[in-house]
Amino acid sequence: MASIKVCEKCGIPRHVAKQTVWRDNGTICQRRNPDHRSVLIESENIDAIFGGIEDAIGASIEHIVVESRRRSAYDYLDHMVPDVVKKIVNKVGFRPVFRRVSKIGRSLGYGDIELVDVRRKYREDDYLGVRIRDPYSIPLFCGDITAAIEVFDGRQARITHEKVAADTYEMTARFIARSTDLKERLAWREYTYKEGNVGFERCPGCGVPLESERFMFNLNKGIITIMPGGHRVVGIGSAALEAIFSELERELGEIIPQLVIDAQRRFVTGGYYTRQGISAQFDFRKQLALRGLGNLCEIEVSEELLRIRLENACLHLMLVGLLQGFYELTYDRESEVEWELGEDDVLVVEVRPAG
Ligand SMILES: [Zn+2]
Repeated sequence: MASIKVCEKCGIPRHVAKQTVWRDNGTICQRRNPDHRSVLIESENIDAIFGGIEDAIGASIEHIVVESRRRSAYDYLDHMVPDVVKKIVNKVGFRPVFRRVSKIGRSLGYGDIELVDVRRKYREDDYLGVRIRDPYSIPLFCGDITAAIEVFDGRQARITHEKVAADTYEMTARFIARSTDLKERLAWREYTYKEGNVGFERCPGCGVPLESERFMFNLNKGIITIMPGGHRVVGIGSAALEAIFSELERELGEIIPQLVIDAQRRFVTGGYYTRQGISAQFDFRKQLALRGLGNLCEIEVSEELLRIRLENACLHLMLVGLLQGFYELTYDRESEVEWELGEDDVLVVEVRPAG
C-alpha cells in the first residue's frame, strides 16, 4: 500500500494540507481551483438523509442518486484531468491510476478502495470489479466509479453492488455504449463569498487550522473521525451534493427540501448525537468553519428561540435540519423551523417551540 506522508506537527496528510485552503470566511476550497468548494461532513449523515427520503416516499431513490452523482463527478473529473492524461490512462490501463485514486480516496475518508479485476477488450462483457471496505456512501461511490470509467475509457458503465462482509462491498461495473451526452454540464450552484474573520490559529508546519488536529486520519482504512465524539467525516464537494438534492427535487417534486430537513433532524435526534455531545461543541462558529459550512455571524440560543445568521452558507437544507435537531435534543421538545437563504448566500434560521 502506498504510504501517505503527514504533517509532523498536526498529522494532516501533506497533500491535503497542500491542496486545501481553510479560509477565514468559513469556506474550504482547493488551492488550484478556488471555485471548487469542499466540506468535511459527517458521512453517516449522507446515506441517512437518502434513507429518510426513501422512508418518506416509500420508494428507492438510489438510481437517481447514483445517476446525478455520476453526472457531477464526471463534470468535475472531466474538467480537472487533462486530455493527455485521459489518453495515457486509457492506453496503459486502470491499475496505476486506481492506486492513486485509492490513495486520494483514503485521505478524504472514502474508505479502502481496491481494484479487484478489470477486463477491457472492447467487447460486450467488459467489466471492472472494485472492492470497498467502509464506503463513505454506497450510492455516491457507485456514481464516482461510473464517472471515472466514463472519463478515462469513454464508455458508460452500469454498476451493481453486493455486500460481501459486514463492512465490505463488491461493485461490478459493466461497460456499455455511451447513451447520454454528459458534455452538457449540470447546473452547479455557484456560491458568492463574503470576507470573514473566523480567526483560526494555524499549524506552523503546514498552515491548516490547528483546530483540524481534532480530525483523526486512519489512512490505511480511509476513515477520518472527528473528536470529541469520534463521528466519521468525509471530504466532499458541496456543490455536487447540492446538485443531487436539486435532481431529487426535479424528479420527485418540491416536497424534497422539507424531506431533507426532516431526515436530517431525525438523524440528529435519533441517537447519533447526545445532549452532552452538543454542549461539548462549545464553539459552534469554529465547528462550522472547520467543516467549511460557512461563517456564523450571529447566534441566539434560548428555549423560546434558536436563531442564527450565517454568511457563505452551503448545504443549507442539511444545516436547517441540523439546527432543528440540536434544538429538539437540547430542550427535549418538538419545534418548528423557518429559514431563508438570500441570493447573497446568507442563511437565517429560526427554531421555535412547536405550537
Ligand atoms: Zn500541520
